[in-house]
Amino acid sequence: MRRDLFAAAAIIAVAERALAAPGAHNGPETEAHRLSARNIVDDIADDYDFVIVGGGLAGLVLGARLSEDANHTVLVLEAGGNGDEFRDRIDIPGDAYYDSLWPTELNWDFYTVPQTGANNTSCEWPRGKVLGGSSAINGLYMNRPGEHELNAWQDLVSDLDGADNWTWDSFYAAMKKSETFTPPVDGVVQEAAITWDASSHGSKGPIHQSYPGYTFPYVGKWSTAAQAAGVPLTNDPYGGQNWGAYVATSAINPTNWTRSYSRSGYLDPLPPRANYAVLANAHVTRILFNSSSPAGNLTAKGVEYTRDGGATKLTVGVKKEVILAGGTIGSPTVLLYSGIGPKDVLSAAGVPIVAELPGVGQHLQDHVSVTVQWTTDNPTAGSLFADNGTETTDPVFLSYVNDAVAYVNASVLFGNKASDLKTSILSQFDQFATSASSDTGVVAGYKAIYDTTANDIFNGPTGLVELLIGNNVDGAIRIGAALQHPFSHGSITINSSNPLDYPVIDPKYLTHPADVQILREGIKLARRIGETEPLSSELKSEDYPGSDVQTDEEWEDWMRGGVFTEFHPSSTCSMLPLDQGGVVDANLRVYGLANVRVADASVPPIAFSAHLMASTYGLAEQASSLIRAYHNKKAPVVTHASSKNSTDGSKNSKATATTSISASTSTSAPSSTSTSTSSASSLNHQPWSFFIVVAALMVSTLVSSI
Ligand SMILES: Cc1cc2nc3c(=O)[nH]c(=O)nc-3n(C[C@H](O)[C@H](O)[C@H](O)COP(=O)(O)OP(=O)(O)OC[C@H]3O[C@@H](n4cnc5c(N)ncnc54)[C@H](O)[C@@H]3O)c2cc1C
Repeated sequence: MRRDLFAAAAIIAVAERALAAPGAHNGPETEAHRLSARNIVDDIADDYDFVIVGGGLAGLVLGARLSEDANHTVLVLEAGGNGDEFRDRIDIPGDAYYDSLWPTELNWDFYTVPQTGANNTSCEWPRGKVLGGSSAINGLYMNRPGEHELNAWQDLVSDLDGADNWTWDSFYAAMKKSETFTPPVDGVVQEAAITWDASSHGSKGPIHQSYPGYTFPYVGKWSTAAQAAGVPLTNDPYGGQNWGAYVATSAINPTNWTRSYSRSGYLDPLPPRANYAVLANAHVTRILFNSSSPAGNLTAKGVEYTRDGGATKLTVGVKKEVILAGGTIGSPTVLLYSGIGPKDVLSAAGVPIVAELPGVGQHLQDHVSVTVQWTTDNPTAGSLFADNGTETTDPVFLSYVNDAVAYVNASVLFGNKASDLKTSILSQFDQFATSASSDTGVVAGYKAIYDTTANDIFNGPTGLVELLIGNNVDGAIRIGAALQHPFSHGSITINSSNPLDYPVIDPKYLTHPADVQILREGIKLARRIGETEPLSSELKSEDYPGSDVQTDEEWEDWMRGGVFTEFHPSSTCSMLPLDQGGVVDANLRVYGLANVRVADASVPPIAFSAHLMASTYGLAEQASSLIRAYHNKKAPVVTHASSKNSTDGSKNSKATATTSISASTSTSAPSSTSTSTSSASSLNHQPWSFFIVVAALMVSTLVSSI
């Protein structure tokens, strides 16, 4: 299974083991990376205003933004290393296929429990364990959720104070703030038939959104074939209408063809900041609370962590807030080991209950995938690399990553039978809701998400399935299908009191019959696109599943034996009302805790029809803005279009105390005034940024030598 999974997963950008070692290439920014990162330290102070748990995609955004206020001290604790010895493999986009970081210590290498909906298979779940987190090891696709989905999320929390932070307008502005867009180079525009609208993108943010410098004719044929098979085209999927077929942007720095990720964008370019420290190899084991805190409003006083596999427990004090950014698996796990979570889970694991919060780890949603493969006589990225020619050391060739996608909705998948399926989904509502959990609040949350998915998302233009084509295998082309809005929800729990033990991951793949039908129609459409001109002339014969699989039953049987994650789990610390199994309110505060927030991919209560990097950058930017606004009287935040950014009154009007934690989490606003010395522009891409870093280093060396 593992080999199949690896092979299948390659299409969505993480790949088989190395075929050969590519040559190193150092562009100017790569050099700057290695000279800088001055905020990565080995010794830390006794306490900090903000302690951020997890130095992954979101954690490094938060660290950079919060430390822009010189009046605040900020610490990031990251379980993984700094990744320096793997830097070439991180930096080279194509190495996501040719020299994957999966088999290294940079991968947590989680597995799910056996999946009853998938022939009892345990599925591999890679996650980044390094500064940069999963953004350092992922497939570099950069696309966005749509306006419709964002507004569906906002509707779910509309009664909560702070809900305006999560409107499309606010979120769109936050996503743009994180990025700098560069159009493709001329030859790639023509060959891959790429269209774009620069006005939908950011132009000054830390993360590059661009395109590979190298492409293949099949990419240019993708959208035409998809359209001929019934998928609409889209010219601007980044402006809120994220459906249809298109060539997506990738997180690539086009000035030197390297991966652009949270470390290269948000950490390395920073000048040394006396108020900012990033500690790698620091696994957070639990949050420590002040025992004299009022019940229902516990105050975190510190964080416990280990740097030696648990032999020594260290602590660091927290003066203002703990912000969890450990990702969809890491954040609920830290809460659970801290004694915050469902009573039955904590009791069975032997973890003393600090505060009962039934939603922790619940509402897990993932994009489950399958893929069809054809042989081809045309050169593929995989075959060129395997040939071991000049390409294997060419940074332009090595910038090639798969990027052609299509998001298809119910009417494309089911035509006029879509309404029958919807009726059937609604008729199963009660059956699946009651089996979702033994907790009434979590069940209410499941119902709320189910209702949104069935009545809003399913009916609308948003993609239920993503199709994506890739050619990183030697002699083969694949088209994958991935479910985007699952009705099967799972959980992250623990079954041990040792915080270094891995959590129990159960996404409950394909346990809801509608998921099986939707994914089945998606993979059938993938085959049809491959059999449609102009793409079909690129392909020879179907390798798998092959001509034996034709009927719906045959497709379903085959699917259950071949599913794998698209690497987009979400929603385990869902932003929902407390009485719906919510973990955080609309200001990202954990219910019942005075000074703990979560800000990462675990927060959105619904899955998105998109890869999750762009939305998580947006979420982390938005989180940083609202946290800074709360702690600074004169908040240096970006004004988001039509956003009424809350000052975090922490009023959870809908969160009536139907569960054991009081909904009141209000804390008094601190009185400190911002003395921000460096504005957001310190992270913007400027051609002279390298020289600024060098100058800053020279000044710091000079100062320390005086
Ligand atoms: C193999 C793979 C391929 C993917 N491909 C794409 C893609 O092509 N495009 C896309 O948009 N998205 C992709 N994704 C998804 C995307 O990378 C994630 O959704 C995103 O990185 C989530 O950001 P995050 O900050 O929530 O979590 P992460 O980026 O995973 O960061 C979490 C960090 O917290 C750390 N941590 C966890 N627990 C602890 C602890 N107890 N103590 C200290 N530190 C801790 C982790 O080590 C990690 O560094 C992919 C993901 C993977 C794994």
